[in-house]
Amino acid sequence: MNRHVAPHLSQFDGHHVDSWYAASAPQQERYPALEGVVKCDVCVAGGGFTGLSAALALAEKGLSVALLEGALIGFGASGRNGGQVLHGFASPMRLFEQQLGGRAARQCWDVSLEGVALIANRAHRHGIDCDLHWGFLSTARNKQQRQALTARQAQLERYGYHDSQWLDQAALREHIDSPRYNAALYDTGCGHLHPLKYVQGLARAAHAAGVRMFERTAVASVDEDRQGLQIGTSNGWVRADKLVLACNVDNGGILPALRRTILPVTSHIIATEPLPEALASKLLPTGAAVCDSDRVLDYFRLSADRRLLFGGRVKHDNSNPNQLVDERRAKLARVFPQLANCRIDYAWGGHVDMGLNKLPQFGRHSSRIYYAQGFAGHGVALTGMAGQLMADAIAGDIGRFDVFARLRHRQVPVPASMEESLIRLGVMYHRVRDALGL
Ligand SMILES: Cc1cc2nc3c(=O)[nH]c(=O)nc-3n(C[C@H](O)[C@H](O)[C@H](O)COP(=O)(O)OP(=O)(O)OC[C@H]3O[C@@H](n4cnc5c(N)ncnc54)[C@H](O)[C@@H]3O)c2cc1C
Repeated sequence: MNRHVAPHLSQFDGHHVDSWYAASAPQQERYPALEGVVKCDVCVAGGGFTGLSAALALAEKGLSVALLEGALIGFGASGRNGGQVLHGFASPMRLFEQQLGGRAARQCWDVSLEGVALIANRAHRHGIDCDLHWGFLSTARNKQQRQALTARQAQLERYGYHDSQWLDQAALREHIDSPRYNAALYDTGCGHLHPLKYVQGLARAAHAAGVRMFERTAVASVDEDRQGLQIGTSNGWVRADKLVLACNVDNGGILPALRRTILPVTSHIIATEPLPEALASKLLPTGAAVCDSDRVLDYFRLSADRRLLFGGRVKHDNSNPNQLVDERRAKLARVFPQLANCRIDYAWGGHVDMGLNKLPQFGRHSSRIYYAQGFAGHGVALTGMAGQLMADAIAGDIGRFDVFARLRHRQVPVPASMEESLIRLGVMYHRVRDALGL
């Protein structure tokens, strides 16, 4: 028998993180904690986009499913991210081509497009009101970044994608009023949403499709033998044939081998006070989401109630909240000097699951245990397909899942105790390159 034991879920104090999302999402349905024994075909660990997508797709295929969320639905990255709905991957397609060959790389690209469509379809089909808005800008501020965007557009065209339009400085002003950028790609096939509303809507859809949902129920151990899996929690057990591990950076708490290819990189977001309508529509007239082209990048957008949500990395994770807000605010003022003195109403952070080569990590630990992680800050759309492909694979259609599972990943070269130092070093190095325009 194989036994895996997870440490307790850290950081959870009974509530969602104090974000603008938590403040603006409607009252969430609560699901009970597991007590006693549940039997099912598939147990899903993790109630974020990945786990809920898998659970919903499995239930739609007629399988019995129990989903265990250690905290609350959407407590992890899915309920607190930048909300940017993006096709493609955090890593360039060139890496997929090198590792898998052109045909399989093309399949991966198509899956990423399907991920964006899946969000729109599920929001429509399940009546999920999640403030979905189309339009996305990749901005550039120097020659190197403009060249990188030109190359990116050429690559999109090679893949037959034509919804991305080059904007020079004058055209850019129709989308963003910022002195910081002088060119961009404008993509109507990407957009943004309210992630907590979407993840809660997915949970309702999964529940309605027959998934037995449990919150405050962390997977503490997994025992595997020939008969199947026994998944232990503090007050009960799930007996299942298969397990989907969708605990993001915490997958490795259950299967330590999965942790060795992931770095938990913290990213922070601030939300301003609601901006006057005239100011909001001057700053971002088309309401597009924006991501800059720095290696240590900033991402931002307007919320439905016209707050500027401005995310990125701060220098010191452990800094006190005021320092963190000041740091983010200073970055915000570089992009929109008009907002230098505006009030900041919310500030929060979360862990981005970052592999060293930023390729998504899908795989099987055994014939019974499937996992997906390593979305590298690009998971809002791709997680939906990760869940869908795991469900397809469990139901016998392994093809597309296995294409991703063939990708190779590098191990983090330091022990867990030194990871934070490694991340800081990496960020510092990339900041210097950004500053020098390299
Ligand atoms: C600040 C921030 C901004 C981001 N911005 C963007 C963006 O704009 N666009 C984009 O595409 N991506 C973005 N991302 C990345 C994206 O949010 C993630 O890739 C995605 O949400 C991952 O979903 P998931 O379901 O795999 O993980 P999660 O949403 O983290 O879900 C994992 C769940 O597992 C639970 N769990 C952990 N351990 C256990 C256990 N032992 N038992 C049971 N449950 C457990 C956790 O409580 C959690 O709810 C961002 C991430 C962060 C942190």
